[in-house]
Amino acid sequence: MTDAKRIPDGVGKPMVEIEARQLLGLVCTKGGLTCPLIEPGCAHAILARLGKDPTLPVQLNSNADTVPHYTTLTSEDYAQRDPDDAFNRKRDLDVLQRLGLLPGSIRRARYLFELLFARIDTPGGICVYDTPGWEGCPHARNGAYERIREEGWQAVVHARTKKEMRAFRERNVERIRNGEQLYVRPHHFMCLACGYAGGENDAPRPNDTLYEILERIRRQPDVPVTLVEGCCEACDCCDGFHPGNGRCVHTCGLIRDYKKDLDLFQKLGLQPGDTLRACDFIDLLFERIASTREICGYGDGIVTSEEWTICSGPEGNPGYEKTRSTGLL
Ligand code: SF4
Ligand code: SF4
Repeated sequence: MTDAKRIPDGVGKPMVEIEARQLLGLVCTKGGLTCPLIEPGCAHAILARLGKDPTLPVQLNSNADTVPHYTTLTSEDYAQRDPDDAFNRKRDLDVLQRLGLLPGSIRRARYLFELLFARIDTPGGICVYDTPGWEGCPHARNGAYERIREEGWQAVVHARTKKEMRAFRERNVERIRNGEQLYVRPHHFMCLACGYAGGENDAPRPNDTLYEILERIRRQPDVPVTLVEGCCEACDCCDGFHPGNGRCVHTCGLIRDYKKDLDLFQKLGLQPGDTLRACDFIDLLFERIASTREICGYGDGIVTSEEWTICSGPEGNPGYEKTRSTGLL
């Protein structure tokens, strides 16, 4: 692949930078408040971008680590104390700690708001206290944050409509059934095997078109398959697929699925862009890979962080092993 075809890094390069506390401010602004943590014009501009792009990479910052060593401070410095600054530093660290992130962490918009709503159900204890001197935001108890949280991440970040996903599915199924060849990311053949479970689930899947791919391969086992990286021909109708840039905004799509594909390419001795007969690829897959633990469990089954959680658990998905023993075709 030439560098000219690459798209901007959507995981490590931010397109929006905010202080971590302002994540809550965006929610309260969405709920109709004028949040003291973020200037309203700035909040509305960011909300407009979030409402269009679930892949938007957002960086959460904090000035906590700019605090100087006490030996460099004079009594005059202490006389100029800024309680709001200390409160805001605490808010930033409260948010980052609850999300399991660090100053400078960058995450996609949908990932971030799913995480936010799962971990922080109220601004109480972050934006507002009863402690004298730490009273904080006068709006924090009016329920705006909680109301938006109740609606879910879709209230803040763009979500695909059912109509759009249906239209993509129809177009996609037509291409899978009648196209000259298939384009599939390699670990999706493993997902297909997990879901099929040795024939126990011989039925279409609501969020992808892997079953339609299986039907095509059954009808034509030697149909050529080009092995791709990233979202593939099975993804078009998924709520996690963002047609704007072809990225997957589900948690698995943040980073770990890229590794699964590359691990599989390496173990099978193949390269992105290789084209094989479908039946030959499936034979090779089942010959070399005995369990999803080897790919989806990273070989050792150890979860090193939230971003590297293991689909189906560290011991492997039993559905894959069943399909491996019965065969797919
Ligand atoms: S365990 Fe791996 S192969 Fe199976 S469904 Fe999950 S991601 Fe796909
Ligand atoms: S968009 Fe993501 S979650 Fe949806 S099918 Fe594709 S890889 Fe899987």
